[in-house]
Amino acid sequence: MADSEGLKARLAPDVAARVQSLRLADGVVTVVLDGAGLDDGARVALEGSVKASLGGSADVREVRVGIVADRPAEAPKPKGPLILAVGSGKGGVGKSTLSANLAVALVRLGLKVGLVDADIYGPSQPRLFANEGIKPVAKDSKMFPVPSKYGVGVLSMGHLIEDGRAIAWRGPMASGALGQLVDAWWGDTQVLVIDLPPGTGDVQLTMIQKHKPAGAVIVSTPQDLALMDASRAMNLFEAAHVPVIGLVENMAGYVCPHCGNVSDPFGMGGVEAAAKELDLPFLGRVPLDLSIRVGSDAGEPPAAGEGPQAEAFMRIARPVAAWIAAQG
Ligand code: ADP
Repeated sequence: MADSEGLKARLAPDVAARVQSLRLADGVVTVVLDGAGLDDGARVALEGSVKASLGGSADVREVRVGIVADRPAEAPKPKGPLILAVGSGKGGVGKSTLSANLAVALVRLGLKVGLVDADIYGPSQPRLFANEGIKPVAKDSKMFPVPSKYGVGVLSMGHLIEDGRAIAWRGPMASGALGQLVDAWWGDTQVLVIDLPPGTGDVQLTMIQKHKPAGAVIVSTPQDLALMDASRAMNLFEAAHVPVIGLVENMAGYVCPHCGNVSDPFGMGGVEAAAKELDLPFLGRVPLDLSIRVGSDAGEPPAAGEGPQAEAFMRIARPVAAWIAAQG
């Protein structure tokens, strides 16, 4: 009297290896086989060979063969947000201001946006978004972004450290901390703006190589010196194969708070000329305007308001949004 093991032994080893289950009941053998990687012809041949091997004995009346389809392809990994890096060759040129206002402007254009403050040595985003002093909640050792009233979730080292305590981290420690801010629960966030630390050193390079931004925006003031730093930042992104979406000129033209006249303490148009020379898009300029500094310090990003300051940031955000849309 045949049992299932005995029946299996009648199969050629390569066929037996495909058996998922084999049962004999009332003279009927039911075999389920894994058909992974077999085309239609090979499946027919497999079925025929199993029937020939198992049928034709006194105790087997019928052989039923089921070949299960290839295992469905693994569900694609949920896509994380598209990462947009905002960089500058040096500090103080308005990189954090632009990052915050670009994020707010992109929300106004209908995108779901988060922001990581990677400027670990001088984190300013909690102040810019008026969510200072709120500690991020964590689940399964991953953090949730700290919400802001402007629709942008924010994660910053400034949310994690005690107020005013300088961070003296270097190299791998800094990179590890930044990684935790990026690999957080970003949910359905479509665009993650990263306010990079100023400069073009190891931390920036590691960050760029590890998190592979889809594109970068470079901020500079119009002076020659700042422009040289900006072109260094551009080389950094190019070395890491991160496309530069374009250049932004900040502090271009001083708007007098009393009479509204515009003067050019740092010159004007230098970044646009540099963009042309470097064959990169020029995304727009933001004037040096006291109300931008005051609004930023008060946790009211100018891009969230109305008027010319908001419009300056919206003008920059539109081509960036178009670039994002073109990425699919
Ligand atoms: P970075 O991130 O490059 O170091 P910040 O964005 O922190 O620079 O800006 C440095 C200072 O300059 C801040 O006090 C900020 O409010 C101010 N600032 C930046 N851009 C402007 C602007 N267009 N008009 C007036 N003040 C500005």
